[in-house]
Amino acid sequence: MRIDIISPLPELLKAPFSTSILKRAIDKKVVEVCIHDLRSFANNKHKKIDDYSYGGGGGMVLMIEPVAKCIELLKSKRTYDTTIFVTPDGQKLNQKKSNSLSQLNNIIIICGRYEGIDQRVRDLFIDQEISIGDYVLMGGELPALVICESIIRLLPGSMNNSSCALSDSFQDNLLAPPIYTRPANFKGHKVPDILLSGNEKKISQWREDQSIIKTKERRPELLK
Ligand code: SAM
Repeated sequence: MRIDIISPLPELLKAPFSTSILKRAIDKKVVEVCIHDLRSFANNKHKKIDDYSYGGGGGMVLMIEPVAKCIELLKSKRTYDTTIFVTPDGQKLNQKKSNSLSQLNNIIIICGRYEGIDQRVRDLFIDQEISIGDYVLMGGELPALVICESIIRLLPGSMNNSSCALSDSFQDNLLAPPIYTRPANFKGHKVPDILLSGNEKKISQWREDQSIIKTKERRPELLK
């Protein structure tokens, strides 16, 4: 899989891809992540990528030309399965969406900033708009990272034990059961006996029951 991220502030994206599972996935060539500095596509001396909003209004707006130039360059080199714009008014990200994005080969993600992006970028180039929740951040870099992390951890080879991802919360519409590690007894607070029993069938049944109980309590709508 290849993910191209177009960003007005690429520095924000570099550190997360340079550590831990994301770095390992890149080193192992499970995924290629290419970060593009929107400013380098600006067609003016001062590398300006934003301008005032037509019709007035507070903030600056990301201009269409640099975004168009970058997307057109990328699309001239390979075919993309989807081009995503991250935006608070998009479809809310969930595990089902991450699962389906993880099946694709080439993805472009565009990060907004300031008041947002010229509507014509959205009309002309975007296949899907994704929000990471009902709150507003300063830019699209963290949402792009959230999407990338949720996808990349699902790719075979990115985690030591990739089957873990399949038993996470929201897979099968259930929340994950409680988990424990050593010590078996912490100041009188004991790990449930069943987990120490070695009986795999009973443990698996206990985990499923706990998942259902937790989901009923916390997110009953998932069970519908
Ligand atoms: N004026 C916009 C609005 O009210 O919807 C918010 C713009 S926000 C300050 C700047 C950029 O941050 C957005 O264009 C988007 O790319 C990104 N962003 C902020 N919050 C987001 C969220 N919850 N999900 C996805 N992207 C978000």
